[in-house]
Amino acid sequence: MTTRDPKNAVAANVASAPTPRAGNSNVAPASNPRIGSASAMAAMATPNSNTDTVSATTPPSLGIAETAGPTNTTADARAVFDAFRDPALTRALIERIHALAGDRPINLMEVCGTHTVSIGRYGFRSIMPANLHLLSGPGCPVCVTANQDIDRAIALARVDGVIITTFGDMMRVPGSTSSLAAEKAAGHDVRMVYSPLDALTIAQENPGRPVIFMGVGFETTTPTIAAAILEAQARDLQNFSVLSVHKTTPPALRAIANDPQTRIDGFILPGHVSTITGINPYRFLVDDFGIPGVVTGFEPVDILEGIASLVEMIDSGLPEIRNAYRRGVNEDGNPVARQMVEQVFEPCDVTWRGLGPIPGSGLRIRPAFETFDAAKRFDVPVEPTVEPRGCRCGDVLRGRISPPECPLFGKACTPADPVGPCMVSSEGSCAAYHRFRS
Ligand code: SF4
Repeated sequence: MTTRDPKNAVAANVASAPTPRAGNSNVAPASNPRIGSASAMAAMATPNSNTDTVSATTPPSLGIAETAGPTNTTADARAVFDAFRDPALTRALIERIHALAGDRPINLMEVCGTHTVSIGRYGFRSIMPANLHLLSGPGCPVCVTANQDIDRAIALARVDGVIITTFGDMMRVPGSTSSLAAEKAAGHDVRMVYSPLDALTIAQENPGRPVIFMGVGFETTTPTIAAAILEAQARDLQNFSVLSVHKTTPPALRAIANDPQTRIDGFILPGHVSTITGINPYRFLVDDFGIPGVVTGFEPVDILEGIASLVEMIDSGLPEIRNAYRRGVNEDGNPVARQMVEQVFEPCDVTWRGLGPIPGSGLRIRPAFETFDAAKRFDVPVEPTVEPRGCRCGDVLRGRISPPECPLFGKACTPADPVGPCMVSSEGSCAAYHRFRS
């Protein structure tokens, strides 16, 4: 290979990638002395190695755990990330994917916005075999929030005295005729928070005003919202409530697997969500559709290992649900977090942008906690829904088109002036494609 070989270019990108700060959710190994994919990494270094080694249950230590400790977390994190960005291993995995892919069309969908960003950052789409397509799915919670839910939050922001709080990305997403950011500019009290607990503090500091937290997110986020509601109950914060537009991932995967216009041969399953759910909720993909899935982390070796594992299963015709992110994901997930969510929330039917109504895919606040349910406490008129003209977010979220196929991409729609939600969030497919398009 010459230095112009794209595999080398990707490996160089991988080697020079910045190390995330310690404390990032990917830094699970600091508290886990075993690195789940260590043996797989070693085995994958040779193109003929078997991806089943991904499933090794007692891999050797990478040698960093022994130094792990509360006073050395930055060095520990760097060692972990360096190991999962090894250029030689990256090249070997890319070559293995090329060797396995053959010449039939293969569509793989990543179901997590963080995967979309990682795949863009490391240039993996351009390095895949021509017949292997990496499609982005509905993994950005801001992107899949329906217009009518944004319009409801905007209507609540217009209620006299109300303080609306939410995460930053949600502020900029256009609703039918406005956005929360526009409402803030118009003088309404809309505040960005980093955690629902910040919203509790605002409620405590403003006892005479209703404080509403617009809760958006998947299984990873929902436990923190449940904890905030339980904490509000414990503090008897009667002026705090949550507008719940939370969603769960498996029903969306079923909807995509059922979509006759989208053919997915394998799913790159979300690492963060799976820390809560475990891997069992994905087994229907194999049982009902014969589609394999691999839970992966977010570093180059994680993602390539997941892709190689998927291609191997597609090649063999033996689909499974595999866990290639054992340093972060247990087979059973986090039952304590799930129990907290089940205590506060119950499943409901909700509408996803692009995917439409999906039965049982939402989470609403249980009647026992309805005093904290903004949807029940505030009966506000919501304007008729108008979808952004020309926006193809729905098709992007279903994997029917890639973002550059939208006629507005990079022209009328840019991160500075977004038309649809997929261009707003940094983890939105259109924003990620735009950011890494060179
Ligand atoms: S490029 Fe903009 S308008 Fe097109 S699908 Fe993406 S967000 Fe919507």
